[in-house]
Amino acid sequence: MERSFIEKACASVEEGLKAVRFSIEEAAVKSGRDPGEVTLMAVTKTVEPVYINHAISLGVELIGENKVQEFLGKKEELDLSTCKAHLIGHLQTNKVGKIVGNVDMIESVDSVKLAREIGRQSVLKGIVTDILVEVNVGNDENKFGITPENAGEMIGEIAETRGVRVRGLMTVPPLLENPAETRKLFSQMRKLFIDIDNKNIDNVYMDILSMGMSGDFREAVAEGSTLVRVGSAIFGQRNYR
Ligand SMILES: *Cc1c(COP(=O)(O)O)cnc(C)c1O
Repeated sequence: MERSFIEKACASVEEGLKAVRFSIEEAAVKSGRDPGEVTLMAVTKTVEPVYINHAISLGVELIGENKVQEFLGKKEELDLSTCKAHLIGHLQTNKVGKIVGNVDMIESVDSVKLAREIGRQSVLKGIVTDILVEVNVGNDENKFGITPENAGEMIGEIAETRGVRVRGLMTVPPLLENPAETRKLFSQMRKLFIDIDNKNIDNVYMDILSMGMSGDFREAVAEGSTLVRVGSAIFGQRNYR
């Protein structure tokens, strides 16, 4: 690739990042929240390491990747000395052994079976893996996640698994035309988050509520998100090859 091309693309990452940070701050202040309560994750799926490292050099402290293979393929080239990495995409049980110990958190735990396999592999490696439980808040049949109705009971089961620590909830709401409808779903998530926290279940911490993407992070922040996962608003439209 031509050098000037990379430089231009890096400048655009910087602009995107600035704009997203500004909007997070604005949304937080508008809803009476401390912007410091909201962590920005840069979602780096399909993004090449040069741009990811540029974002890290601009202060990004958390990245998110969807696919085990893609992340492990890029990891060597990433400067992760000041930046953590979470897995945020659907994880098949047969890939758990590859990813456990290679990321700081697995956000996309959508079944008790998957949690148990993460626990088993973590125990084998002598570690405890931080996880979020993915909730299918819109009950969307095209989406992964535990239904809100089952969440309490399933989190209770997951929390009994050795080798995992439940840190909170994650959701990807269905794409809705009306931002007010999406906001309602985020509000339901916050209620669920508080309800589960109030149960004081052993090994369940409920300190992270991961919700909000490029198209809806403002609504998510307004409804109490503590971690927004933003990709295209920073890196531009994804190029799936
Ligand atoms: C791709 C992805 C994101 C980021 O999406 P954008 O719309 O590009 O911000 C966030 N969360 C998950 C789970 C994703 O797969």
